[in-house]
Amino acid sequence: MENKKEMRQWLNNFGLDHPLVIGGPCSAETEEQVLKIAHELKDTDVTVYRAGIWKPRTRPGMFEGVGAIGLAWLKKVKEETGLLTATEVANKDHVKLAIDNDVDILWIGARSTVSPFIMQEIADALNGTEKIVLVKNPVNPDLALWLGGVERLYTANIKNLGLIHRGFSTYEKTKYRNIPEWQIAIEVKNKFPDLPMICDPSHIAGRRDLILDISQAALDLNFDGLMIETHWDPDNAWSDAAQQVTPKRLVEIMKNLKVRKVTDDAEAYQNELNTLRAQIDVIDQTLLDTLGKRMRVASKIGEIKLSNNVAVLQNKRWNEILGKMILEGQDRDLSEEFILRVFKAVHQESINKQEKILNS
Ligand code: PEP
Ligand code: MN
Repeated sequence: MENKKEMRQWLNNFGLDHPLVIGGPCSAETEEQVLKIAHELKDTDVTVYRAGIWKPRTRPGMFEGVGAIGLAWLKKVKEETGLLTATEVANKDHVKLAIDNDVDILWIGARSTVSPFIMQEIADALNGTEKIVLVKNPVNPDLALWLGGVERLYTANIKNLGLIHRGFSTYEKTKYRNIPEWQIAIEVKNKFPDLPMICDPSHIAGRRDLILDISQAALDLNFDGLMIETHWDPDNAWSDAAQQVTPKRLVEIMKNLKVRKVTDDAEAYQNELNTLRAQIDVIDQTLLDTLGKRMRVASKIGEIKLSNNVAVLQNKRWNEILGKMILEGQDRDLSEEFILRVFKAVHQESINKQEKILNS
């Protein structure tokens, strides 16, 4: 699969002068709920209405979706509001039902992208379709698995493709439900710049107060659109209650977002610069987090040294680390001088931390 300008044709056909917005509830619950939300989103920047019909739940015993009956509700949404519709498909039966019921956009959820068997089953069922198919990243931060999913669809002659970045699960507790790991999305974007990339801040955040900031970060990274879970009564939603926003709040979020348009050369330059700076900000944040983590580990070592009465500086170990880093630095086009300066500074900070512990 190679990058092709045609990849964005389906998005260009929408003729939008702003990023694509997909709004709608996590799950279709009742016909009334589906239609009420759709009507509230009708005269906004929302182009596509989402609603999960079949819900993949990590643990059993939770609401697993209304099933095929909800497809008729989505048809009504289209008739009554003119919004396009989207739902998740996770096997060949879902694909058939969604297509037979005129759903416009099918997305593949994070728990499906993770499985090459499921991806292949879906690709086979969709073979040659003109439908727009969006592939969410797999639950784990595995770039190849994500791209592999897209490649399986592309090979099955499905050309109206796009990606949804919904963050990645971690064992570590963070403020996010799924950490963004923006660098993975950036890597995919660099590889396939014309493949539309949509951010799903709802599933990254897991809570509604983070959605605006995550959406802005995505737009600063030049994402093509946003998928935001929207419910008329978020707190009482049957799934993902904490992360859903009201239609009114969605409109507010859209108004608050700064979109950088490309209209002439000066702006194109500025836009590119902003995108790259946003990438740098993400990387710097990661660097800081990593440095913080390293120092916490160094402090733990300090405590062990204290209880074993061992000297802070272990020269042999330090020279080994340095030699290894200089070699690995070469592979990354980083000069020996730079590596020495950075790692000496890092090492010094570790020593300071340990000294403090040993002298406490
Ligand atoms: C969803 O969009 O409601 C959903 C289940 O998302 P994900 O596959 O990203 O977890
Ligand atoms: Mn959801």
